[in-house]
Amino acid sequence: MIFKSLKDNGNPIMMMPLRDIVVFPYMVASLFVGRQKSINAVEEALRGDKKIFLVTQKDSSVDHPEEENMYQIGTVCTILQMLKLPDGSVKVLVEGAKRYRMKKFIHGENYFSAVIEDIEEEEAASVDGSEVKALVKIVFSTLEEYIKFNKRISKDIFLKVSSISDPSKLADILAPQINVKLSEKQELLDIVDSTERLEKIYTLMESELGLLRVEKKIKGRVRKQMEKSQKDYYLTEQMRAIQKEMGDKDEKVSEVNEFEEKLATKNLSQEAKSKVEKEIKKLKMMPPQSAEGNVVRNYIDWMLSLPWGEKSEYRVDIDEAEKILNEDHYGLKDPKERILEYLAVQSLVEKIKGPILCFVGPPGVGKTSLAKSIARAAGRKFVRQSLGGIKDEAEIRGHRRTYIGALPGKILQSLKKAGTDNPVFLLDEIDKMSRDFQGDPASALLEVLDPEQNNTFNDHYIDVDYDLSQVMFITTANTIQGIPPALQDRMEVIRIPGYMESEKLLIAKQFLIAKQKEANGLADDNLVFTDNSVLEIVRRYTREAGVRNLEREIASICRKVAIKVVRGGSETEIKVEKSSIEKYLGIPKFRYGMAEEKDKIGITTGLAWTEAGGELLVIEVATMPGKGKLSITGKLGDVMKESAQAAMSYVRSRAAMLGLSDELYHQMDIHIHVPEGAIPKDGPSAGIAITTSIVSALTRIQVKKDIAMTGEITLRGRVLPIGGLKEKIFAAHRGLISTVIIPRENERDLKDIPEKILKNLNIIMVDHTDEVLKHALVLDDPEKFLQVHEEISHFYSEKEESVHPPQ
Ligand code: ADP
Repeated sequence: MIFKSLKDNGNPIMMMPLRDIVVFPYMVASLFVGRQKSINAVEEALRGDKKIFLVTQKDSSVDHPEEENMYQIGTVCTILQMLKLPDGSVKVLVEGAKRYRMKKFIHGENYFSAVIEDIEEEEAASVDGSEVKALVKIVFSTLEEYIKFNKRISKDIFLKVSSISDPSKLADILAPQINVKLSEKQELLDIVDSTERLEKIYTLMESELGLLRVEKKIKGRVRKQMEKSQKDYYLTEQMRAIQKEMGDKDEKVSEVNEFEEKLATKNLSQEAKSKVEKEIKKLKMMPPQSAEGNVVRNYIDWMLSLPWGEKSEYRVDIDEAEKILNEDHYGLKDPKERILEYLAVQSLVEKIKGPILCFVGPPGVGKTSLAKSIARAAGRKFVRQSLGGIKDEAEIRGHRRTYIGALPGKILQSLKKAGTDNPVFLLDEIDKMSRDFQGDPASALLEVLDPEQNNTFNDHYIDVDYDLSQVMFITTANTIQGIPPALQDRMEVIRIPGYMESEKLLIAKQFLIAKQKEANGLADDNLVFTDNSVLEIVRRYTREAGVRNLEREIASICRKVAIKVVRGGSETEIKVEKSSIEKYLGIPKFRYGMAEEKDKIGITTGLAWTEAGGELLVIEVATMPGKGKLSITGKLGDVMKESAQAAMSYVRSRAAMLGLSDELYHQMDIHIHVPEGAIPKDGPSAGIAITTSIVSALTRIQVKKDIAMTGEITLRGRVLPIGGLKEKIFAAHRGLISTVIIPRENERDLKDIPEKILKNLNIIMVDHTDEVLKHALVLDDPEKFLQVHEEISHFYSEKEESVHPPQ
């Protein structure tokens, strides 16, 4: 046997120091070998009898171990296999054969080797065979339990050892499985006596087992605790859910009760009532939090919050009504009379049949506040709904309930707000509705306003008929043109044109100032406005037909004064004068009047009509050397640009009479500009004003500063009538213009203009632009102007007009 020979001859054997592992006899181990000397030893062994002595290093970090770095007892192993790895190291599979003691360590140049000594175990004489057997038995039973607890150990071990009765072999096979430190493992290897070794293994197993048992116990306890707290959590959650469920049920019951009680007190139509009853029944069956439940709940809620026949006790005492209208409004004689007539008829027929009132006028003239006064006079509630920008029928009539987030239309929404079925219902800006693919809101509105069918108005959301016949509808618009014609037919239009400066002053003194003082908590004595201060606001801080901005500016002053009163005490008295306005309102926003301060070349004042009333329009023309280009700037519409072209044609036809050479147009650029104001301006009515500016610029003759004009021009220079004369005359009056030139055909419109204004204005009516020029330009002898070359001029005008198509 090899071992004998080893012992016998005392020759060195290849050896390899081990790190972090103790190899026992019978143990099969796979080792990675990196140290060159070890690799060499392995290779050398393989060349011989494949035996190698493996000894564990005491300290695994030592790379070049000497004898003292190593334990003494090691194992001679058989190399079963060697595998070279790509990085130069090798992997060897070894099987432990027998333990030996190292007698001498030889640190050779190429490899380690050692002289070793056999330490044959002698069976201890003192130990008898039965004792060993008993020990083996105990070890087996302990092992069984040990394997159960210790997941790291393969179950196969038990099978492997079950047939072994040799205590030494048993001990060596079990030793690698014990979970102990390296040094303790080495201790096991060091024990030569087999019984002693097995005993040691038994104690080690037992003590680890003890630990494992405790560990398991602790784990079990912890798990139990965790399970318990999980269970607790689960139970409390469930309890909460149950409570919630029960609570909700209570809530639902009380909600349903509430609905039913409310239904009983309300005066719903039969149809509506049965519908609500059906929905309440549905709600009872539904789970409390369902989305469907919410839809049903909302519907019932809406149905029960509509007024359903609730009415204000209304009365119409005409004298009282007249008093109220006068209390709230200055002037407006015609509108007030019409309103009283209307109320009188209503009270006689006791039903609202007949036309709907429609107040037409610029913003801030009191349309809304008249409607409010009507409500007050008639003892009805007041609601207001703006129709501006509405383009979808559903906004009037509601969305069907199948639609997500559906609601009733604006009509029923407002009625809910009013809380009665007979309020005064103001439909604002009826001219600002539009239509799109969603359907025409005007047709829905037609149904709302039609007394023949509005007692069965069908809103898509509530989906039952609702009676609107008691509602007193009033509408407002800025212009009649914007109102859909079918609606116009239903309406009685009451125009409110706008106020003159003197009227604004009175409105401010009698109404606006008092209203704003009260709104801002000022006592009468705290604040006094002089007339001039109000006029200053009217002239330099507002430009409007109504008084909305005037009121806003007054409010702004009141707020500033309120601060002073708070600081200075309630005795504070402040007098607002013309000179102090700037302190309160900042620098003026407008040039007063806008009538030019001096006669100027190329600048004419036109008159424009906008939805906010009339406006003065400055038209500037400049000429400069160039190539005959006509450029037009400012916010002008196409029609106005065409009218500039027509003006040019007329001027060219008059070139000779004006003393201008025809060549001039090819050497000169003409620039027309309409400055000021962000409102786009359009319409042909600036024709004569543009012409006057062009002529003035070309002839270098000044335009009179206090003259304004309006009129369309044809290519031949004829002056055609224009619209909105009243507003334009108002604007001229506001702007301190003394003379206004208008088309003769507009003479008929003068009857609508208050005497007071006409008295202060010199109105000149014209048929032809030639006359305009004679009046507007600063001429030494107007009669002679344009007459000098009469014949030639005639020739020119014929010629020009044959080139251009007639208008
Ligand atoms: P609109 O509806 O025509 O745009 P509002 O009715 O809102 O105008 O009027 C704006 C403000 O001017 C309101 O405070 C209103 O009371 C006031 N107002 C308008 N006209 C008069 C008037 N004739 N008398 C007294 N206050 C007026």
